[in-house]
Amino acid sequence: MSKKSVGDFKFANKRVIVRVDFNVPMSKVNKGEISDDARIRAAIPTIKYLLKEGASVILMSHLGRPKGEYNSDFTLEPVALRLSELLDCDVRFLASKTVVDDDIRKACENLRPGEVVLLENTRYRAEEEKNGEVFAKELASLADIYVNDAFGTSHRAHASNVGISSLLPSCVGLLVEKEIEIMGKALENAEHPFVSILGGAKVSDKIGVIQNLIEKVDTILIGGGMAYTFLKAQGIEIGRSLLEEDKMELALELMKKAESQGVQLLLPVDVVIAKEIDANAQTDIVDIHHIPEDMEALDIGPKTREIFAEKIREAKTVVWNGPMGVFEVAPFAAGTNAIAEALAQTNCISIVGGGDSALAVEKAGLKDKITHVSTGGGASLEFLEGKKLPGIEAIEDK
Ligand code: AMP
Repeated sequence: MSKKSVGDFKFANKRVIVRVDFNVPMSKVNKGEISDDARIRAAIPTIKYLLKEGASVILMSHLGRPKGEYNSDFTLEPVALRLSELLDCDVRFLASKTVVDDDIRKACENLRPGEVVLLENTRYRAEEEKNGEVFAKELASLADIYVNDAFGTSHRAHASNVGISSLLPSCVGLLVEKEIEIMGKALENAEHPFVSILGGAKVSDKIGVIQNLIEKVDTILIGGGMAYTFLKAQGIEIGRSLLEEDKMELALELMKKAESQGVQLLLPVDVVIAKEIDANAQTDIVDIHHIPEDMEALDIGPKTREIFAEKIREAKTVVWNGPMGVFEVAPFAAGTNAIAEALAQTNCISIVGGGDSALAVEKAGLKDKITHVSTGGGASLEFLEGKKLPGIEAIEDK
């Protein structure tokens, strides 16, 4: 069932409260400095759309983990300033330690079409993460219509997304609409060959995704730390590489399941090894059968990169989640970069799950060449697992 979107409402002279994801990384050195404003920029199309349609816009978001009480370290004030610059209009910051109070209510009542305000961090209220009814009602009382444009928090049932949805006419914003349309199509109606690339540290985090994708894809490419549990399960010696012993059995089962469904599941054939994770570490490239006892495999090797790239070139749809190695440290970033480049060079529908793989694509300057880079790490993972996201489920059906 598809959900109502902003196109299904008239917004002229309406006060619209929008849940956005302004949970931006802040500088650890300079207080109040935003180190990456991508999430703020991602919210702009919906804000501009609502303003053009004649609405006044009340924005709300969480930032970090203030644990349910006021803490100036987590104020959204710097975000209001940055948003003012990006929108080229004044975004008034409605500072309140309790997020909503009489002054805030008055300010919202007096809003005029074309005006934008930002509320304080919703996680200053303990009820937020408990989906508390009182807080949801306070938020709903500020507006006529609710829009959810925070894909990154849609896998959580909080007052500012799920609670408020049942109290106001509701719809998804342009960002959420794009996320669920593109990823939904890939899962339900993909063009084949459909290739999925999975990496990251742990098998345990990706079990649900592998299980769901095995039913849908033609090929699964596995890299990153999780690959070594699969390799060890096949009897390959992996030295000091990451291993989840208690997941070896499951890895074997998943490989069997893939085989029985006719899904190709490929693991690294060569790797970059080192004694430790260090920018100056001495590295070597070895065949997968020759990992020394005292070394750790920290990236996929050049042969594997080429095999994976070839599969990507043949694909019509690719979904990628998780880095191929310890990409944060230069000597182990080449595998992840090679995947990002192979994806950028094809014309297929390419979808990058949020989190680390999204960061890798952005770092490589290749974001524009990917069909869709998700703004939600945990949310996109749950979506790929085939789970229903409560923040989206709560929105009115079309
Ligand atoms: P995840 O959050 O599960 O997507 O995992 C991302 C993390 O996995 C990154 O911080 C990587 O440094 C780490 N990672 C990827 N490959 C390896 C590897 N071969 N050994 C250890 N850590 C890895």
